[in-house]
Amino acid sequence: MSKIQIDLGDITRLDCDAIVNAANKTLLGGGGVDGAIHRAAGHELLNECRTLGGCNTGEAKITKGYKLKAKYVIHTVGPIYSGKDSDATNLANCYKNSLDLAKKYDVHSIAFPAISTGVYHYPLEDATKIAIATVDTWLKNNSDYDMTIIYSCFDTKTYNMYKAYLKL
Ligand code: ADP
Repeated sequence: MSKIQIDLGDITRLDCDAIVNAANKTLLGGGGVDGAIHRAAGHELLNECRTLGGCNTGEAKITKGYKLKAKYVIHTVGPIYSGKDSDATNLANCYKNSLDLAKKYDVHSIAFPAISTGVYHYPLEDATKIAIATVDTWLKNNSDYDMTIIYSCFDTKTYNMYKAYLKL
């Protein structure tokens, strides 16, 4: 099995150790992938999220997956696109911090949505390049650790973008 995969469809149906949620700072749910994850995981997810005290942009927090196939949900907060240099750093930190946290919890397969590219309006091509470069660097720096990456793409535009840059 390849270490890096692309999946077209709903992240909540994936059978992996952890799925990543593109959350907002409150961690109390929202629209897009956040809403889908909360609906699929059930209300217990929100109860646990209430105990976390929110999350800053670029950081990540972990909960159980409840009704999901995934054991864990890693909640990370992407930048709201503003065009500043800090956007790229914050977006890269989402991927890096999610992976660091995943490793701490012995996660060996993790699915990422295209963080910030929905209502947070990060340009898709730039966001895809940052995601792939950051994950590749992490995998290189953690080459002794077995981690499978799944890029979860909800639409064909995103799927084709990842496909082009991953050259799979
Ligand atoms: P953000 O606020 O970080 O932009 P969004 O949820 O609005 O988060 O969008 C992030 C990405 O997640 C977009 O590409 C969107 O199409 C995608 N998305 C929405 N629902 C799902 C889902 N159920 N599974 C996977 N990706 C999803």
